[in-house]
Amino acid sequence: MRPNEASEAPALAARLEELKRRAAECIEASSERLAELSREIWSRPELAYEERQAHDALARFFAGLAPGSSPAGAWLVQRSYKLETALRADWQWGGEGDAAGAAPAAAAVEDGQKAPLRLGFLCEYDALPGIGHACGHNLIAEVGAAAALGLKGALESLRPSGAADGLSRHVPAVKVTVLGTPAEEDGGGKIDLIKAGAFDGLDVVFMAHPSQEDAAYLPDVAEHDVTVKYYGKASHAAAYPWEGVNALDAAVLAYNNLSVLRQQMKPTWRVHGIIKNGGVKPNIIPSYAELEFYLRAPSLKELSILTEKAENCFKSAALATGCEMELKGGANDYYNVLPNKSLEKAYIENGKKLGMEFIPEDSLTGLSGSTDFGNVTFVVPGIHPYFYIGSDALNHTEQYTTAAGSEEAQFYALRTAKALAMTALDVIFKPDLLEKVREDFRLVKLKEEGYLNIPENGKVSGLGIGAACASR
Ligand SMILES: [Zn+2]
Ligand SMILES: [Zn+2]
Repeated sequence: MRPNEASEAPALAARLEELKRRAAECIEASSERLAELSREIWSRPELAYEERQAHDALARFFAGLAPGSSPAGAWLVQRSYKLETALRADWQWGGEGDAAGAAPAAAAVEDGQKAPLRLGFLCEYDALPGIGHACGHNLIAEVGAAAALGLKGALESLRPSGAADGLSRHVPAVKVTVLGTPAEEDGGGKIDLIKAGAFDGLDVVFMAHPSQEDAAYLPDVAEHDVTVKYYGKASHAAAYPWEGVNALDAAVLAYNNLSVLRQQMKPTWRVHGIIKNGGVKPNIIPSYAELEFYLRAPSLKELSILTEKAENCFKSAALATGCEMELKGGANDYYNVLPNKSLEKAYIENGKKLGMEFIPEDSLTGLSGSTDFGNVTFVVPGIHPYFYIGSDALNHTEQYTTAAGSEEAQFYALRTAKALAMTALDVIFKPDLLEKVREDFRLVKLKEEGYLNIPENGKVSGLGIGAACASR
């Protein structure tokens, strides 16, 4: 610590508050364009991996923003980044990527830190079949974009004072990266992006998901999806039933096996599924039946136990009926979301200043959905808070679709974006916080991986099984 640092602290804290106000003002100033972006995505709902119009809307949004005080102030937009409907937009403050930011870069060199701090903001934009944006992912895209704009505006306001500004001396260059992440409701676009290296080098990531309440963390669980196909033998159901092998019986037995298993499951485990195919005509012994099931548990360790139990239910049904069985996992397993207490604490402090009322931690039931953001939390520290949108409707209902497109939701979406941008400023300008965030990440991950064989880059599933799905 430099001798004069302690005496500078109150002035720096006040300066940081000023920057946070600036971020909020910048978000307000763009409120119309942000609402338009959200509305555009909402009014043309697209399913996982098909979000071409949403991708274009977001690309146009960032490409069309005024560069600010210098040509280097423009966002560098990469369309179809690693996936057709994924997107990346970058902007850098200080360092070599930004000629206008020479002052912070010089300060960074002074501190011996050359690499920019890389902060990511994630935008989802896929919808659900039949009911449109019933999970409000149009608002996720808006919040991610708005938070990135707010952070950029705040950092730009530091430039005139440059090296003379007490705050900029404490930070290296900052790179703000917006990632458009498709296919959260089905498939797991973020998992594809992790495998493709899109999250490499990011230091902290931010996003927020619409809900019925404000919560810095909800325990989204791990998920493995399975498709089970039973192959039997057709026969006349009245004349020669003994010649047939009944695939529907296998499906029904498997369904009932799982229902029996449910009584012995932990209260936090979930097994739910459908019979997708159960034969074609009552007088033909069904030669083919198909089941689709989602399996969920709070950790990957518990999920692997549940998966084994469920697979035994499927296998024994095949054995009992004499059917052949094909059991296939989804392409991507969703991991449980790891908490990051330090980030959550900073987010709650900022959110409260903006009037958010957070649900008490002890009211959490331990039950939630699943999201591919879980996998992200295994490779980079991040936060995935939930936010109220002005309606008591539940996600994945028609009523929630209406709420996600309403004008009322705009206030809450922008407020959430402000809290995220303010938390990002804390990460940048409170060096102790960044260290704590990294330590939380390391310790929580260590605990989780004690059970698993996940390599450092998290690119291979520790379960050796596949699946798919979202706060879904
Ligand atoms: Zn969702
Ligand atoms: Zn959903």
